[in-house]
Order: sequence, then structure tokens, then C-alpha cells
Amino acid sequence: MGKNTDIRIKTPEELLILREGGRILADIFEEIKNSVKVGMTTGEVDQVADSLIKRNNVVAAFKGYRGFPACACISVNEEVIHGIPGKRVLKDGDIVGVDIGIIFQNYYSDMAVTLAVGILEPNRQKLLDVTRQALLHGIAKARAGNRLSDISFAIQSYVESKGFSVVRDFVGHGIGRKLHEDPEIPNYGSPNHGPLLKTGMVFAIEPMVNMGLARTKVLSDGWTAITADKKPSAHFEHSVAITESGPLILTVK
Ligand code: MG
Repeated sequence: MGKNTDIRIKTPEELLILREGGRILADIFEEIKNSVKVGMTTGEVDQVADSLIKRNNVVAAFKGYRGFPACACISVNEEVIHGIPGKRVLKDGDIVGVDIGIIFQNYYSDMAVTLAVGILEPNRQKLLDVTRQALLHGIAKARAGNRLSDISFAIQSYVESKGFSVVRDFVGHGIGRKLHEDPEIPNYGSPNHGPLLKTGMVFAIEPMVNMGLARTKVLSDGWTAITADKKPSAHFEHSVAITESGPLILTVK
């Protein structure tokens, strides 16, 4: 981290496009939250995402990306990220991570939430709450004058204080004209390292938090990352711009 990074500074005009794209993506997520139910398959959740993306006249950024076959990455329970939608049926007490990228006027937005299916066992509800809150702690450090690893440290220290672990094998990223731009944004690390943060930088910050140990492995489908100990994992992500007045979450209504 911090070496050979080319972090693009966005213009105010670009930020306006990114804000509008983020608003559309947040709208899409609100509808998905309302439609996910016990008994649905992950493939059906992806169909909902597909129809919402089309209705909003935006482009699904993940479909075809390095061969990914769907609009949404859908990751259930022990699946960390990059789950391929299919025949898996959502059961009462499951947690389901939904991650979607869209392209609006040639600019990318990226967002993920982990949803409760039915009633959760308390430790799973805590996992969701801690991961959502960890994202907000990271976002709070996305300020001009801080260093990149201040975001990472805020996420890791909060998550570990709650007894969970942060995934090391996957990280957040810059975003804008491409889905993945510099820099990489780990969810762990000591503070005050890496590039100096500046107004106009735009980041996809995305903690992945495991109930058990941090280690993950990728299934033979080449995509789905699961926890090595098969315990549950949660994932929340926002696209965030650094503005003169502080962090601006782009992927909200
Ligand atoms: Mg992302």
C-alpha cells in the first residue's frame, strides 16, 4: 500500500454524476431489501436486481466482469463475497450479502449490504450490526489530511473490540471511471500510513467481517469466497467521496 498508487482526483462535475449514480444504486437496494424473503433462491434475488437495473436505465457493472455471470454477487452465511447467484434457497435465520455495481453515464458505483432473512440468532444480528458500524467508522476517517490506513485501522480496531475478525484476503478500492481504481483499501492495518487523502478522491470502502477466524478460501467455481472455518461472514460497502466538508456517502438516497 502507498507504492505506485495513482489515485484519481475527481472534478466537481464527476462527483455530481457519481452522486446521482449512487442515489440510483441506493434506490435499487431499498427495493431489494423489501423483496428478499424466506424461500427465495439467490438466483431469484439476482433476477430482482437485474430488473431494477434495467428499469433504472443503468448498466450492471459486474455482469461479464472477468466472466462473472450475474448482476449481483450474493453470498449466504459462510460465503464472504463473490457468491454466484443460483439455486441456493434462503432459509429463516440466514444472512445474505448482496453486492451490486452499476455504471451510470460511464461512472461506476459499488455498494453492498448484508440482509437478515427472517429472524436471526443474536450473534448473527450482532455480526450485521458490527459490520455496518465498522463501515461507518471507516468512512468517518475518509477526510482530507488523514492517511489511507486511518480508514483501515478504524475498521479493524472497532471490529476486533467486538470480538470478530476482519478479512485480509479482499479489500476496498478506488472507484470512478473504472470499477477498481487505485488505491487498495485494506480493512486492517496500523494508522497513519499510506497515501495522504485529498478532496476529490472516491473510494469503495467495504469491510468483510467474520464471526470466527479471518481466513478465507475460494470455492472451485473460481469466485465464491467462504470462511475457512465455515462460520458466518458479513459485508457492507459504500462508495464515498472526500469533500472539503468531509466524507460524502454517494450510495445513499
Ligand atoms: Mg467493491
